[in-house]
Amino acid sequence: MEDHLMFIDGTLCSATKGDWLESLDPYSGKVWARIPRGNADDADRAVKAARKALKSGPWAEMSPTKRGHIMRAIGDGIAKNADRLAAMETSDNGKILSEMKGQMAAIPEFWYYYAGLADKIEGSLPQVDKPDTLAMTVREPVGVVAALTSWNSPLMFVAMKCAPALAAGCTVVLKPSEFASTSSLAFAQIAKEAGLPDGVINIVTGLGQEIGAPLIQHPMVDKVTFTGSDSTGRMIYQMAAASMKRVTMELGGKSPNIVFEDADLDAAAVGAVAGIFGAAGQMCTAGSRLLVQNSIKEAFTEKLIALAREIRMGDPTSPETNIGPIATPPQFRKVLEYIDTANSEGARCIMGGKVATVDGSTDGQFVEPTIFTDVSNHMRVAQEEIFGPVLSIIGFEDEAEAVEIANDVIFGLAAGVWTGDFGRQYRMARALEAGTVWVNTYRAYSHLLPIGGMKQSGLGREGGLAGIDDYLETKSILFSTAKGPTANPFLQQ
Ligand code: NAD
Repeated sequence: MEDHLMFIDGTLCSATKGDWLESLDPYSGKVWARIPRGNADDADRAVKAARKALKSGPWAEMSPTKRGHIMRAIGDGIAKNADRLAAMETSDNGKILSEMKGQMAAIPEFWYYYAGLADKIEGSLPQVDKPDTLAMTVREPVGVVAALTSWNSPLMFVAMKCAPALAAGCTVVLKPSEFASTSSLAFAQIAKEAGLPDGVINIVTGLGQEIGAPLIQHPMVDKVTFTGSDSTGRMIYQMAAASMKRVTMELGGKSPNIVFEDADLDAAAVGAVAGIFGAAGQMCTAGSRLLVQNSIKEAFTEKLIALAREIRMGDPTSPETNIGPIATPPQFRKVLEYIDTANSEGARCIMGGKVATVDGSTDGQFVEPTIFTDVSNHMRVAQEEIFGPVLSIIGFEDEAEAVEIANDVIFGLAAGVWTGDFGRQYRMARALEAGTVWVNTYRAYSHLLPIGGMKQSGLGREGGLAGIDDYLETKSILFSTAKGPTANPFLQQ
C-alpha cells in the first residue's frame, strides 16, 4: 500500500492531526493507497502559503515570460511521467488505461497553450469623454484560487484550472476528490521539479465538509473554481457568495443526443453508444438522453443494442477492456438506485439493468450497460444526472418537438445532433441550450475551445482564450494630463 502526502508551501506533509483516508481500487475492491485526511487547519496553512506567494517573493516578481517557461516545463514533466500518472488514476477511479493514454496526451497541451498565453495578457487604452485625461485598463490576477475537483478525470481538471490560473499570475490551493487524490499529489512534485516557486500551487486532501468547506470560506481566498455535481455546486456557490468570491462552476448534465431519420444511422449509433457507455457513463457530457425520431426509433434501437452488446467490461488495465467499474461505492449505489427508480416509474428496460459479474474482479463495482425505452422526459431517469452507464431513449416527431424535449431539463452542458441536412444542423445547434453542441459527432474535445455549462450546468468557461478570463480582474486607471490643478467641485465658480 502506498502513502501519499499533501503539498503545502513547497513541502510534502501529513495532515495536522495525522489522520488518513483510504483509497479504494474499484476493480479489485481493495485499498491500494492512503491520503491525508486534512481539516480547516491544513486549509488555513495552504491558503496562507498561497497568499504569501501571490504578494511577495519569486512568483510575485516573476516576468510573465518566465512564468510561461515554468508552465511549459510542467507540461513536459507530465508528459514524461504519463504512464505512472495514468496508472495511479486507473487504480483510484477505474478509468481504462487506453482512455487514460488519450487524456495523458491531451493534458500537457493545456499547459503549453496557457504557457504561451502568460505573456500575452493585454489591457487597453480606451478613449474617455473627459478633457485632459488619459485612461487605460490593465488585467490583474484575481488572487488566491481555491480549486475543488471531482474524481473522474483528476489531472485533466488540474490542468484546466491551474494552467490558466498560473498564466494569469494567480496562486492556487487545490483539493482533489477524496476518492481520487493520488495523481494530483504526484503532480505537485512534478510542478516543483519544473521550478514552480513554493506556495504557488498547494494541494490539500480530505473530505469536502472537513477541508473543502473551510477552504472555500477562507477570507484570503479570492476565487473558487469547482468541478463536481450540481447539488454540491449549489452549496459551494452559496458559501462563496457570503464574501462575494469569484466563482467558476463546471457541473453535471443530462445531455440530449438527437438522431433524425435523415442521419447516417450507423455513425449515429456509434456516437450514441460511445456517448453514454464510454467511461461507464461517468462523464459530465454523457449523452444520457437519446432522442430518436419516431419513424426510425424501433430500427435504430435494434442497431444500438447490437452495438452495445459488443462492449467488453473488465480489468481497466487490459487493452481488451472497453468499460471499467463504477469509480466509487456511493456512485455504484446511486446508479443502481436510479435503475430501480426508472423501473418503478414505468420505463422499460430493454438491456442490462443489473450488477455485472466480471472475471478477475471479486468485489468490483460493475454495472451492465443499461438501456431504457418508453421513457417520458418528465421521469426522474430523464431529468436527473445519473453519471453511470444508463441510457434513456425518448421518441420525438419533428424538429420543434426535439428542441422542446432537449431543452426541458435544468441542465445545459452539451448536446449532439445527427442529421444530413445542413440547415437543420445549424438551426438545431442554435436552438439547443447547451455550452457545446456536437453535429454528427459526439465527445470531441479540444484545449483550444471553451467548454462549460448553460443553465444549472455551470458558470464560466474552461479551455481556449475564454478560459483565462475568469482568473483576471480588469482595473481602470485614469491619469490627469492637465497642466494646473483640476477644478475644485466644492468652490462656487
Ligand atoms: P461532488 O460534487 O460529490 O464532489 C466534487 C468535489 O467537491 C470533491 O472534491 C468533494 O470533496 C468536494 N465537496 C463535496 N462536498 C463538499 C462540501 N460540502 N464542501 C466543500 N467541498 C465539497 O462530485 P463528484 O461525485 O466527485 O463528481 C461527479 C460530478 O462531477 C458529476 O455530477 C459530474 O457531472 C461532475 N463533473 C462535471 C464536469 C464538468 O466539466 N462540467 C466534469 C467532470 C465531472
